Amino acid sequence: MPPLRSLRAPRALRLAAIALFSLSSRAISEPQFDGRTNATGPGSAQTPRHTSSQDIDERVWVEIEAPTKAERNAAVNAGISLEEFSPGKAAGFAGPAALARAKAANLKIVSSVSLRQRFGALDFPAQDAVYHNYAEVSKALERLTKAAPAIASLFSIGKSVKKRDIHALRLSWERGGDVPGKKPGILFLGTHHAREHLSTEVPLLMAQYLVDNRKKPGIERLLKSRDIYFIPMVNPDGVEQDLLGGRYHLHRKNMAQNADGTVGVDLNRNYGWGWGGAGASDNPGDDTYRGPSAFSEPESKAVKTFLEKRPNIKILVSYHTYSEMILYPWSGSDLDIEDNDALEAFRIMANEMAKMTGYVPMQSSALYLSSGDTCDWAWGELGIYGFTFELTPKSMASGGFYPGPEAVASTVEKNIRPALYLIDLADDPLRALKSPAPPAPAPESGAGANGQ
Ligand SMILES: [Zn+2]
Repeated sequence: MPPLRSLRAPRALRLAAIALFSLSSRAISEPQFDGRTNATGPGSAQTPRHTSSQDIDERVWVEIEAPTKAERNAAVNAGISLEEFSPGKAAGFAGPAALARAKAANLKIVSSVSLRQRFGALDFPAQDAVYHNYAEVSKALERLTKAAPAIASLFSIGKSVKKRDIHALRLSWERGGDVPGKKPGILFLGTHHAREHLSTEVPLLMAQYLVDNRKKPGIERLLKSRDIYFIPMVNPDGVEQDLLGGRYHLHRKNMAQNADGTVGVDLNRNYGWGWGGAGASDNPGDDTYRGPSAFSEPESKAVKTFLEKRPNIKILVSYHTYSEMILYPWSGSDLDIEDNDALEAFRIMANEMAKMTGYVPMQSSALYLSSGDTCDWAWGELGIYGFTFELTPKSMASGGFYPGPEAVASTVEKNIRPALYLIDLADDPLRALKSPAPPAPAPESGAGANGQ
């Protein structure tokens, strides 16, 4: 993780992020992120009983030799969820079946360690209480809505498998609750994948940032001219599962009960563009299981319905962790998208945001092919410019899915300018072709983030 880069941000942004950080710390002085109990690992009364290959005890962290994309594709097709990349190698999670398929595909396994061995000490650390669990996200969104009733509305886009509301916060001078708006729209999505908790924090605290700075000229202009949505936790059931019993479970999928007794569908392989293609598993026990059919899951279906009802939304960001990348379609195909102007706009936007963050920009399939993701569907079906952000950190060694409390403020801060850049472009993303330089309408001073 390159922490110094973030220090180049303007002072106002730094202050805002610090204030955000302290705010969010305060905001969750209520019950803490399930970190109160001290489950002690295997055999503990609070250790959840899994009967599937989803069980942390059965999965391994596997590193493979991957000098080219062919090996990465083969690994993903075997059912490994690749998370980390270094020259010549890739690493990720595999259940027993995926590992066997990887071996059968003649992939060279560099190392494979059981998750219990690798992450045995992952009891939920008390200081990670700064992160928001489902109840805390719900409260934080309610608080934001009350703090800025003139622009904020909160509503549910649908329910998860376990009947939790999937919350959306809207910031718009149109107000209007869940009534679709007319102004240029943009959507920020977090936590399709349960264990990627930082991807909840970024859209949630981004909304907080806009509310706190709503009277600053640059921000006010955007709020008055745009229709901005945040869905910080697409997969609330999975998040709660990941925190069950006060320790992390490295849970990725939702909590659907699969026909074979395993649990969970990978929501970011369940969207209906190219569903069932490369890089998504048909084995229900795998971390990248695509589900029985496209949009079989209530969570992905809720996002679909939400976007279909709102043709004013022209851009979306789907936050994930980790590896510090900015990805754009296609993910399920090596081809370029067909519209040359749009492709150039995608590239320019990704490059500009890479400059702001230090993340690496690329077409998603350049990393490896994976089908059924949010951004392919959004572009293919609705013409929405969708970016997948793989947030901090860069590697498992620097925290992986659990980078600790210090990652929150710096990651939010780093992602404010890209978000403002995209909000600005939401009226016509092709404007990126004409003005590659980001407008960066950051507030002038103070960032009175404790304004509530
Ligand atoms: Zn993810």
